[in-house]
Amino acid sequence: MSAPQVSSPWGKKAQVIPCSLEDVMSEQLASDLQNDSEDTEFKKAISESTAAAATSTVAPPDIDSDDMAAILAAAGISEGESNNDEIIARMMQLQFDREHNTMLDREANKYNGGSKVTISFENYKTKHPVYDEAEEDDDDEEEENYAPPKTKWEESPPKIGVKGYTGSGKNITTKHDKVICGRKNAERLMEFPPEFESGDGEGMDMQLPNRVYNKLKKHSIAENKRSTRHSDKKEQSTAEHVLDPKTRTKVFRLVNRGVIESLGGVIAGGKESLVFQAKGGSVEGMDIPEHLAVKIYKTTLMDFRTREKYVHGDHRFSKDDYKKQNPRKIIKIWATKEVANLNRMRKFDVPCPSVIILKDHILVMSLVGSHQTPAPKLRYANLSVPDLQDAYEQTVAIMKTLHHKCALVHADLSDYNLLWSDGTVYVIDVSQSVDLTHPQAFNFLYRDCYNVCNFFEKQNVHNVLSPEQLFNEVTDLDIQGEGADFSAQVQRYDKERKETDMVLGHNYSQFGFDYFFEKAQQFREAELAAMAGSSSDATKKSLTEMAQKYRFDSDDSDSEEGEGGEEV
Ligand code: ADP
Ligand code: MG
Repeated sequence: MSAPQVSSPWGKKAQVIPCSLEDVMSEQLASDLQNDSEDTEFKKAISESTAAAATSTVAPPDIDSDDMAAILAAAGISEGESNNDEIIARMMQLQFDREHNTMLDREANKYNGGSKVTISFENYKTKHPVYDEAEEDDDDEEEENYAPPKTKWEESPPKIGVKGYTGSGKNITTKHDKVICGRKNAERLMEFPPEFESGDGEGMDMQLPNRVYNKLKKHSIAENKRSTRHSDKKEQSTAEHVLDPKTRTKVFRLVNRGVIESLGGVIAGGKESLVFQAKGGSVEGMDIPEHLAVKIYKTTLMDFRTREKYVHGDHRFSKDDYKKQNPRKIIKIWATKEVANLNRMRKFDVPCPSVIILKDHILVMSLVGSHQTPAPKLRYANLSVPDLQDAYEQTVAIMKTLHHKCALVHADLSDYNLLWSDGTVYVIDVSQSVDLTHPQAFNFLYRDCYNVCNFFEKQNVHNVLSPEQLFNEVTDLDIQGEGADFSAQVQRYDKERKETDMVLGHNYSQFGFDYFFEKAQQFREAELAAMAGSSSDATKKSLTEMAQKYRFDSDDSDSEEGEGGEEV
């Protein structure tokens, strides 16, 4: 029955032929069947033509467009039989691939000639999926049919029943029999992980006493654990692979955001970090210098764990927080600490790199040096005597400022962490630096004094103070004695300070850093609260503005473990 024709001002409606769901379903079924049959037809054609090619020693004919019928005929299909374009195209491709491979074989034969050392173009051959499938199937079959040759032990295993022994009288053999146990142990040894070199025990009648087997097993388990641990660490380690994939992605993001234009070579690779040179990019509202240093803290944590003591007791970083953290977070704490200390030093005009941005364990800062040449460490700067004298005086002045204005102790001050650029001494590497409230601050300071005096003394600088004199000069204290005696007094002083909680009368709220650090914490909390829908927009806005002003990097879009806004 045809549908009635409806006249319409927009034109004529196409005639709709009604059809039942059953028809639609069968049409779909028919189409599926056709596809299936085409596939089978193609595979059949391929296998026939492959067989024909294998028996033929004649090279395949050169192909041109008119040879289609010939190809199809070779594949056992007449043109009338197959009018499906896809089959024809696939056949053509197969033919081309085959010719390409034959040509490579010919080339290889020409090169190789009678030579014993031969070359092969196997890797350049076009593998056709149909061949590959066939090959894989063969392999599977082979593997299924493969059974390893039986060992001597398996060929004639002694049968010991449930009673636990076999035979009788003099010929009784128990399950504790030395030979049986020895062989069994040898068998089990073969099942150890492949990395464990056990040798070929099957080639001989190997027997292992229980004692030896147990020892080997223990060793194998320990080795296995050790190697897994080792390889895990290697994967993640920035040191071994220069940059691990996660770090690389983070650096790329900084490039994408325009903070870094391009990453250059490694300036230095220490035990805790890798420092790269980089070209500064441009981001609106950010003052990015032309030359940057990118410090990437290593993600292997052995060193960081041992440096817990620099965090414990620093009123800005809770000991409990540190303990609770996973390794990646601990590194972030170190990086945050470095940023905090650099910012505080900058605030009081101590020459040091200025922080551009911190993203997890990647710290982008200004490069100390002239143009794109990084400044040398004092140790390797080869300074003239007057310059050395000048460097010494600058270092003492820096130590005084650090103490009286920044209320910081460097805690790793030496000729390795002082750079010389254009007649100025710069302080770097302050991740371990501690606040004066730290219970060991003065102890660390005495050690710094020792390192500084030792270096300049060795460089023959005149009038270098002794470490004890320098300590008193920097702190305005008057501790007597020297060496171990002095050190003991410093430690006592540290202890008393802690007990009486009298830290030179400093009022720590005056330090800009602490203020902003606390605000940063509030900012994170506000963000979390906002996520839970309980923070006012005004609060969030003001905190966001503050974060932008002081570059607390609030972009957490790529933070993997949901460690919201950890960066400063
Ligand atoms: P580590 O904690 O591994 O010792 P540092 O902060 O001391 O890391 O950096 C290692 C080396 O990288 C330094 O000795 C110095 O040569 C170089 N370096 C670090 N920061 C800068 C910088 N801002 N400008 C130039 N060189 C730098
Ligand atoms: Mg260093």
